[in-house]
Amino acid sequence: EIRVRFAPSPTGPLHIGGARSALFNYLWARKNKGTFIVRSEDTDLERSSRESEHNILEALRWLNIQWNEGIEVGGENGPYRQTDRLGLYEEYTEKLITGGHAYYCYCSEEELEQEREALLAKGETPRYLGKCRHLTREQRLAYEREGRRPVVRFRVPEGQAIHISDRVRGDVVFESDGIGDYVIVKSDGIPTYNFAVVIDDISMSITHVIRGEEHLSNTPRQVLIYQALGAPVPEFAHISLILNTEGGKMSKRDGDTAVIDYQKKGYLPEAIVNFIALLGWSPSGEEEFYTLDELADAFSLDRVSKSPAVFDRHKLDYINTHYIKKSSAERLVELALPHLEELSIRQAGERSDEQQQWLISFIKAISEKISYMAEVKDYVHYFHGNVPLEPEGEALEVLKGEQVPGVLALFKEKVQGAEILSGETVKALLKQMTKELKLGGKFVYMPVRVALTGQMHGPELYDIIPLLGLENVLGRIAVTEA
Ligand code: GLU
Repeated sequence: EIRVRFAPSPTGPLHIGGARSALFNYLWARKNKGTFIVRSEDTDLERSSRESEHNILEALRWLNIQWNEGIEVGGENGPYRQTDRLGLYEEYTEKLITGGHAYYCYCSEEELEQEREALLAKGETPRYLGKCRHLTREQRLAYEREGRRPVVRFRVPEGQAIHISDRVRGDVVFESDGIGDYVIVKSDGIPTYNFAVVIDDISMSITHVIRGEEHLSNTPRQVLIYQALGAPVPEFAHISLILNTEGGKMSKRDGDTAVIDYQKKGYLPEAIVNFIALLGWSPSGEEEFYTLDELADAFSLDRVSKSPAVFDRHKLDYINTHYIKKSSAERLVELALPHLEELSIRQAGERSDEQQQWLISFIKAISEKISYMAEVKDYVHYFHGNVPLEPEGEALEVLKGEQVPGVLALFKEKVQGAEILSGETVKALLKQMTKELKLGGKFVYMPVRVALTGQMHGPELYDIIPLLGLENVLGRIAVTEA
């Protein structure tokens, strides 16, 4: 059975890179009818919080990435939060010490710093040289009496080539000599990442470790622990870094990196999933749009690329646009509302049928123009209120045309005379105006457009006018005429 896991550290929101790791694990499990586990690596007590943990889980749920076993879901291998598993790590620490694979180290910060500097001065890689490897009982007791609290270090075997079988990178070999005995339990008794993650992966029978490339250099340290414990080593798949379009590492400066940022901006979860699936994985065919189900069918680790993925916001917008087009107007209205509420337009929950109808028509009028729902804000001014934007430049020139007063006067008369202002009646009355005034279309449409919106471009007049309603239309014309 294939068993995979996503093990975020709850020290902040779920980032795009983390979401991608979670997704690849999820897809690999589904593809193989395996089990996907979500755990929490909360041993960094200062930076971890339950709130972050909750937010990460919420972001996964929003993306519809579900886990079979793990935190908040339960399962046979729990608990799934590392701080609830400290007893287990202690057992394994004992095992490693008894087996001669680990030892207590009493070196102080200053002593370690001196060793570091000495090695650097000789041009060598700083590492722990094993001073406490062979302490006698008496030496240990003496340190204890001094009040020193030990860490536990893993004893790295000398002269060993550590082979890692990686589904993305092939066979990767590290030399044990460069590593130096590393800390597996800190002096406060809390295990380090490299130790705890291995114990979790062993006790949860993880078969594939799929995670970001930044962990590749940790992998030899982890493999040594599997070997010391005589446990089977899982297969690894280290997925490439995500770079920005300039080729640098993606960071906060490139804009939004957290999933929640995209949720707040009104991106659709299925678009985010589709987009991040393509960050490092490529399908075999030409198709670029995939639902989660389709991804679970198509996904394979063999098509995960070694080269870095590029986070291209334009591509995300392009994909999101596709899913906006496929969504119902009702769904889009709900997603748009948070962005309309800011302008105190329509309160969710207290809407009349009429307001709902207005919202639906509004969304239909602009849904092809927006890339994500927060952009609805930019369109509100066309459809709502009785004052147009102040015309500038060319738009202002349009209004100075000599036929304009006549056009606007006739337009007022027509809209007031119309029984209802629907898209159809608006189309008909504008056409009628060109006939009566014997003017080319643009000499009618453009002044009306600018008079109503202050702009020369924008949504269709036959969408704008019915949504504004007679009162606002007349109000806006009056502002322009004044
Ligand atoms: N807590 C680690 C992280 O968030 C997990 C790494 C792993 O999957 O082993 O990067």
